[in-house]
Amino acid sequence: MKTFNVPVIYRSPLISAIKNKRKEQDRMKKDFTPTTLDFGPIKILLARHFGFCYGVENAIEIAFKTVDENPGKRIFLLSEMIHNPHVNNDLLDRGVQFLMDTSGKQLIPWSALQADDIVIIPAFGTTLEIERQLAGLGIEPLKYNTTCPFVERVWNKAEQIGNKNYTVIVHGKPKHEETRATFSHSQANTPTIVVKDMEEAIVLGEFIKGKRPLEDFADVFKGQFSEGFNPATDLQRVGVVNQTTMLATETQAIADYIRQVMVETFDLSPEAVPERFADTRDTLCYATNDNQSAVTGMLKEAADLAIVVGGYNSSNTSHLVELCEEKLPTYYISSPEQLISATEISHYDFHNKQELHTSYYLADKSPVTILLTSGASCPDALVEAVIRKLLSFYGVEHKADEYIAQL
Ligand code: SF4
Repeated sequence: MKTFNVPVIYRSPLISAIKNKRKEQDRMKKDFTPTTLDFGPIKILLARHFGFCYGVENAIEIAFKTVDENPGKRIFLLSEMIHNPHVNNDLLDRGVQFLMDTSGKQLIPWSALQADDIVIIPAFGTTLEIERQLAGLGIEPLKYNTTCPFVERVWNKAEQIGNKNYTVIVHGKPKHEETRATFSHSQANTPTIVVKDMEEAIVLGEFIKGKRPLEDFADVFKGQFSEGFNPATDLQRVGVVNQTTMLATETQAIADYIRQVMVETFDLSPEAVPERFADTRDTLCYATNDNQSAVTGMLKEAADLAIVVGGYNSSNTSHLVELCEEKLPTYYISSPEQLISATEISHYDFHNKQELHTSYYLADKSPVTILLTSGASCPDALVEAVIRKLLSFYGVEHKADEYIAQL
C-alpha cells in the first residue's frame, strides 16, 4: 500500500517498530492476536491493527502540503479534516480555518470566501450541493480534495445499484459528514434513505411489509430520505450500502434483515432474490474491518480493562469502544492527559455524550493487564504517550525504551 508523508510528530518509534515487526511476521494479515508488551507489574496487550488508515494519512499529507506550498493564501477546510482534535488543532495553528462544524453548521459564511481562496475537502468527502456552492464562488471544488478512495468506492457502489433501479438504503449516522456526502451523491441518482441502526432498519422493514401505514413514513424518517421519496413505489427493489466506519456486525445484520424482509414480502425463491435485493456485500473499508477484527482478537485474551484512544466524535473509534464494553470495563480517552493518576481517569461516555471521572480504574493486582487500541484518526504518538504514562504509574517508564532497543 502507498506510503504517505505524515508529520513526524504523529509517528511513534515504539509503535512503528511493533507494527513493522508484526507486518513482517504476518504479511497476509491473518493473525489478529494482540502484541503482548510485558513490562512487569503492567502488561499491555496492543491490538494487531489500529491508528492512521490510508484515508487519514492521505488527507493529512494533502492538507499539510497545501499549507506548506501556499504561503500567504487563505486556506479553509470545509469542516474537521478527520475526527481527531490534535490533528485539527495543528491545522488551525497553521492558520487553516474551518467553514463548518461537524454537524454542518456554518462557522464562516460562504459570502466571506473569494475565488482565490483554497478550500480543502475532508476525508469524509462532501455533498454535491456544497461542490456547487464552491463552484458558484469561483472556487474549483475538487482541486484540494482529500476524500478517501474507500468513501468514493461506496458512492460508486450506490451509483451502480441506483443505475439498476434499486433504492439505496445507507446504514450510517444521518448527521455524520460522510453519510451526508454519501446520501447526497446517491440521491442524485436514485431514491435514497438513511437508517442509523437495526432499530430503524426494523421500522423500515415494517413499512416494506405493509405492517405500518405509509402515511407515517415521512414523520418516522423525517430528514433521512431523498426528495420525492415515495415509500409505495421506492421500497420495491433495494440495496444496502454503509458509512465506511460502522460496526461490521451491525451492517451485516441490517443487510441480512432487509434481504429477509424482501424475501418474505415478495415471496422470493433463492434465484429471484436479486430481482428485489441488490447484493452489495458490505462497503466497510479495510481499516474498519481490520481494526474491529483486531479488537475481537484482542478480547479473546484475559485482561482487566480496556483503553481506547481517539477523538470523541470519531465514529470508527466509538465502535471499537462498543466492542470492548461488551466484555470489559472500557475507558475512551482522547489523550494521555486524561490518565490523571494511577487512581483517577477522566474518560468519555459516548452513549450519553458526557465526560466521566472514575476512581480506581486500574485493577488492584499485579500484573494488571490492559487491552489498548486506537481509532483510525488517532496518531500513534498518542498511543505511545498513553503507554509511557501508564508505565510511569508503576515506576517502569524506562522499560519502553528497553523494549524498543530489543526489537
Ligand atoms: S476509515 Fe476507511 S474510509 Fe475512513 S478515511 Fe480511513 S480508510 Fe478511508
